[in-house]
Amino acid sequence: MKLITMITILLGFCIIFNTTTLSAYRSSVNQKNIDINEFIIKDSINQINESRLNYFYKNLLNFGVRYTGTPNCSKAGDWIYDEFEKMGLDVEFHEWNYDIYESRNIVATIPGNDQNSNAIYMLCAHYDTFLDSPGANDDGSGIVAIMAIAEVLSIFSFNHTIRFIAFSGEEVGAYGSYKYALEAYKRGDNIVGVLNLDIIGYAETKEGGKIIRFFHESPSDWIAIFAQEISIKYYDILDMSVENLPNYPGADNQAFVDYGYDGVWIAQHDPNLGGHSPDDTFENINISYQMKTTKIMLAVLIELAIKPIHIQVIIKSPLEGKGYINNKPVIELGFPDNFFQRLRGITIVFGRPIANVEIICNDEIKYVIFSINDAFTLWDSEPPYEWKIQGKYYPLFGRHKLKVFAYSETGEYDTDEMEIIFFTTSYQYG
Ligand SMILES: [Zn+2]
Repeated sequence: MKLITMITILLGFCIIFNTTTLSAYRSSVNQKNIDINEFIIKDSINQINESRLNYFYKNLLNFGVRYTGTPNCSKAGDWIYDEFEKMGLDVEFHEWNYDIYESRNIVATIPGNDQNSNAIYMLCAHYDTFLDSPGANDDGSGIVAIMAIAEVLSIFSFNHTIRFIAFSGEEVGAYGSYKYALEAYKRGDNIVGVLNLDIIGYAETKEGGKIIRFFHESPSDWIAIFAQEISIKYYDILDMSVENLPNYPGADNQAFVDYGYDGVWIAQHDPNLGGHSPDDTFENINISYQMKTTKIMLAVLIELAIKPIHIQVIIKSPLEGKGYINNKPVIELGFPDNFFQRLRGITIVFGRPIANVEIICNDEIKYVIFSINDAFTLWDSEPPYEWKIQGKYYPLFGRHKLKVFAYSETGEYDTDEMEIIFFTTSYQYG
């Protein structure tokens, strides 16, 4: 048989096999238990289409200005809830109040199917607007993306849990996400990554049309790097690249970061046309760019949700947002208004509290290393993994970073860190 004939036959088999696989999963009664493979991911990416994006935009923008606490904002929240419910997702309102504001976040969930994982990935955006703005791009674009993605993914389940959250209160001080993050932290939710979409619907340059930006602090760097890998893996159908940039504090991912989770703010490349003004209308949305940003975020989210987590280290104490005297938390802090100073989840200690970590890992733990300001201070190879915090060469006064590294016998490792304002006189080496 000629080589060319063999290739043709092989290709034919591949096409038939692919078609069978795809139609089989679509018609399958229980897609919740199927294996998510590359065919399914590519097909899901291709399910994102202009008419569904237009549908979500049209309905959301019908509510007009959606300033937090107004009837328009509330009606838009009801509509988002109903749409998530129509998709068959578990959906609930998360009611919050802060200062003069009272409102609701909408939370829709695809529970994870791996019994050994309590990990949660969040895809979020805000549905409230600035005082006089219809908020098409800010942040209708993010809301439209999470709804379109939720609709496509609603027939599946993945290893880890996915939560889609539409926040309110962003434009008045990111209070909806603050209250949610605080409560999630107190519940002990294992949120592994927060992907916050805010302003992803406009491009005016050729370069901008192919770029999406990830703003974040260094502990969340892995999310941007992972997204870059996904953009390369599916470049043929996404035609997008990811820019990995330093943090720009203040978006809805920030409260999660302040309470010890990892999270990124994801935004377009080009300027935000008509932002925070009456000009932020649907006419200024670039729908083909919105398609691309929605598609890449769908791909990143699925790939995260199926990726095994080999090891995870979580600092359990000191607690975020508490005032300590030695190892005793004596007061609840938080400073909700001071998010630009990054004081929301700050911890203040007088004396020496005990750092205690939880490690989630299927393998044996080799050791755990505690550090202050990236300087190695102690390793521990027996549980409980604990350390009575002190300085290394000098007393700790002011803001410092506690960072913990955990290593498995199989060579995997993970880190967790938190910022603490110390008043601690003792230190290891005088
Ligand atoms: Zn915004």
